[in-house]
Amino acid sequence: MAAQTVASTTNTVTSPDSANTVDLGPAAALSCRECGHRVPLGPLFACEECFGPLEIAYDFSAYETEDLRKRIEAGPANIWRYAPLLPVPADVAEKPNINPGWTKLVQADNLARELGVTPGKLFVKDDSGNPTHSFKDRVVAQAIEAARAFDFTTLSCSSTGNLAGAVGAAAARAGFRSCVFIPHDLEQGKIVMAAVYGGELVGIEGNYDDVNRFCSELIGDPAGEGWGFVNVNLRPYYAEGSKTLAYEICEQLGWQLPDQLVIPIASGSQLTKIDKGLQELIKLGLVEDKPYKIFGAQAEGCSPVSVAYKAGHDVVRPQKPNTIAKSLAIGNPADGPYVLDIARRTGGAVEDVNDEQVVEAIKLLAQTEGIFAETAGGVTVGVAKKLIENGLLDPTLTTVVLNTGDGLKTLDAVASDTGLTATIRPNLDSFREAGLAS
Ligand SMILES: *Cc1c(COP(=O)(O)O)cnc(C)c1O
Ligand SMILES: [Zn+2]
Repeated sequence: MAAQTVASTTNTVTSPDSANTVDLGPAAALSCRECGHRVPLGPLFACEECFGPLEIAYDFSAYETEDLRKRIEAGPANIWRYAPLLPVPADVAEKPNINPGWTKLVQADNLARELGVTPGKLFVKDDSGNPTHSFKDRVVAQAIEAARAFDFTTLSCSSTGNLAGAVGAAAARAGFRSCVFIPHDLEQGKIVMAAVYGGELVGIEGNYDDVNRFCSELIGDPAGEGWGFVNVNLRPYYAEGSKTLAYEICEQLGWQLPDQLVIPIASGSQLTKIDKGLQELIKLGLVEDKPYKIFGAQAEGCSPVSVAYKAGHDVVRPQKPNTIAKSLAIGNPADGPYVLDIARRTGGAVEDVNDEQVVEAIKLLAQTEGIFAETAGGVTVGVAKKLIENGLLDPTLTTVVLNTGDGLKTLDAVASDTGLTATIRPNLDSFREAGLAS
């Protein structure tokens, strides 16, 4: 059992960095984000000294910048081109995995015109193009490699919907059992998408924060023994998957940092790891160092980080979510304080939009760029619009707005005010009567 492997590893270790028994490539240890305490790689997520979150610490010392760049550019058209910068074994591309990533960075000139951004300066990173149509495939792809390394046989998670689908698909392909937990009242598209891969899908009577609390209990219980919870006990590995968004955006911009990024916030993990990825590229010399601003985006009906940002607080007060942006509906975001740090340190901001503005933004993106975003994409596009209007986002600088999911999973959000233009009989008179003739 994995838990025993970890215990014995921890007991026999004398020098944490030299005694790892698992091969996760350049990943050297787990390190506490708060106090820096290091422990060997294992399915651990909280610091034993201070309960701070554990992160992956790497040894990148062997890399030479131009060699690394060539190696990445010669790699596959998926996240594994960045394997030298991720907690995965070197032969990861040969394992059964759904191989997400290398999604389109769309130059959004029509949207730019609508928002008053200088043409050529606005981009949408469209992660709806992943295998299960959300950015979650990136993080699950990492977590599954860690699950393999720690001999877990069941994959699990607490999910706002997209993660459940990503775990189901990845588990099916890699030969794991999966059993995932969601709030029982999610959108039908999310439920079907999570169930179709054949794993077990459990609806919990409660919201995401209740689901998450339940999963924490299950981890400590024999009922959950041998289970890898991708966003709980495998969270340090899972989280690193978000760095690939930073890598791809910079590589797709010709190995350059954007000036501004607009990123959605659920738990805040994605936003903090995109910042980590950008910092790594700077340190490795793969991009030229220059200032960039990170903007966080939330829905007003679940805006604990935005509220704390505007009030000048360092702590995030939990909320009870009530918004159509269910994929972002985490009322007590684990990485909220780090998001506040990053927004303030980089000169960005955190902003929110209401549900009506989310729907408007979904339609605006669809009607200008032909990209059908889920509600989370409506949140980022809506927030970008608002930030330009209130002068916080500079419309003359290179800006990347993330769309992290596919509108097909949240059809209800726009179904009430989209539909048939006309219904006619199948003849030309009827067509002309409807006023559609040229
Ligand atoms: C999970 C998710 C996010 C971001 O989640 P974090 O917990 O902040 O990392 C963003 N968009 C979509 C569509 C998601 O499903
Ligand atoms: Zn610590």
